[in-house]
Amino acid sequence: MAILRIKEQEVSYSYLYIVVSYIVIKYLLEQFINLRQLDQLSVKQMPIHIEQTLGITQKQFKRSQRFYYDKLSFEMYTKSIKTAIEIIVILCGVMPFIWERTVTFFKMDPNSEFQRGLAYIFVEFLRLKLIDVPNNFYNTHVIEKRYDLSQISFALQFSDLVIESALWVVFVPILLYSYLYVAELGGDYFFIAMQFFVLIMAIVSSLVYPNYIQPLFNEFEELKETQLKQAISQLAFRMNFPLEKILVMDGSKRSDHSNAYFFGMYSKRIVLYDTLINNLTNEEIVAVVAHELGHWKYRHPYIKLVFFCIKILITFYIFGFYRDSDVVFLSFGFKEKSIFIGSALFFSLFEPMNTLFQIFELHLSRFFEYQADMFANRHGLGSYLMSGLIKLFKQNSTNLMVDPIYQWYYNSHPSLFERLKYLNKLR
Ligand SMILES: [Zn+2]
Repeated sequence: MAILRIKEQEVSYSYLYIVVSYIVIKYLLEQFINLRQLDQLSVKQMPIHIEQTLGITQKQFKRSQRFYYDKLSFEMYTKSIKTAIEIIVILCGVMPFIWERTVTFFKMDPNSEFQRGLAYIFVEFLRLKLIDVPNNFYNTHVIEKRYDLSQISFALQFSDLVIESALWVVFVPILLYSYLYVAELGGDYFFIAMQFFVLIMAIVSSLVYPNYIQPLFNEFEELKETQLKQAISQLAFRMNFPLEKILVMDGSKRSDHSNAYFFGMYSKRIVLYDTLINNLTNEEIVAVVAHELGHWKYRHPYIKLVFFCIKILITFYIFGFYRDSDVVFLSFGFKEKSIFIGSALFFSLFEPMNTLFQIFELHLSRFFEYQADMFANRHGLGSYLMSGLIKLFKQNSTNLMVDPIYQWYYNSHPSLFERLKYLNKLR
C-alpha cells in the first residue's frame, strides 16, 4: 500500500484514549503486582522450608532479599519514567511529528513507505535505547556488582551493545522490506500471507540465530570425550534423540547463571553452559539434559510455534478491519495512512489482547516445565534432577521469595519449591 493522504474531516480521539487508558491500567496493575512482590522481599526472617531445602544461612537469605528488593525498586522506578514518556509521546503527537520529519529532516522520498518507515524506526530505536542503555548499565554495574552477582565487564557489555546495534542495522531493513512487500502482495488475504511470512521467518531465525548470531556473543567448544559425554550420548540414544554434537558454551563470561538447551532442525546439538559442568555432578547434568529432551519428546517447541501462528493469524485478521480506517490514523494525529503506521497503531490497540495471550503462554510454558520434569523422573533421574535444580537455584542466586500473583503474571517457570514438590509427589 502506498502512502495515502487522508481527506480533511472531523477528528475523534477515541482510539487514542483507548490506548492511553490501557497503558495507565496496565501500569497500575503491574505496579500493584510489583508492590506485592516488594512485600515478599521485605520479609526478614527466613521461612523454615527454605532453610531446610537450600541449607543457606540467615545472612545469605537477607542478602538475597536485599538484592531483589533493590532490583525491583529500580525496575518500578524506571517503569514509571518509561510509562510517563510513552503517554507524553502519544498525547503530544510525537509519532506524527517524527513521521512528517522523515521527509523534511531525513530527506526520504515522501512516497516511499520503506524509506520513511526505516527513518521512523531509527528514531524510535534511538529514543528507546537512550532510556534502556543507561538503565541496563546501572542495573549490572551498580546493583548487581554491589552484591557481586555480575561477571560482565564494562567493555564486554559495550561490545555486546555494538554487536546488537550492528545486527539491527543489517536485519531491520530486510525485515521491514519483506513485511511491507508481503502486506502489499497479500491484499485482502493479507492475514494468510503474513502467516506464511512469519512461519518462514521463524524457521530461518531458528537456523540463523544459534549458528551465526549466538557465536558472536559466546564461544562454543565440543565437549571432550569424557564419562559425561558418554552418559549424555547414551541417554540420547535410548530416547531416539537425533544427537549430532554436545557443545560447551562459555556462559561464565557474563554471569554465574547456568543452563542447557538444544537446537537444530533434524539432527540436534545440545549446549551446556560451562558453569553447569563446573558445579553439577555428571548424574545431575544428565538429569538436566533429560529434562531438556522431555521438551523435545513432547514437541514443546512445535506446540509453541503453532500457538504463535494462531496468535499471528488472529492479530492480522483483526488488523485487516483497521488498516484502512481513517479514524484510527486521525485519532493519533496522522494526516497520511500507510501499512507501516497502521501496523504500529494497531499493535498498540491490540495490547490488551496481547497481554491475555502472554498470560496464556506463560501458563503453557509452566505446564511444559512440569511435563519435562515428569519425563526426566520417568527415566529414573528424578532425585538427581532435584539436587541439580537446587544447585542451579543457588548458583543462579534466584529469587527466594515470590508472591503467587507475581509468579503467575511474570514467570515462565514454576518456582523451585513448586517443582520440588511436584517431583516429590511423582516418586
Ligand atoms: Zn525446561
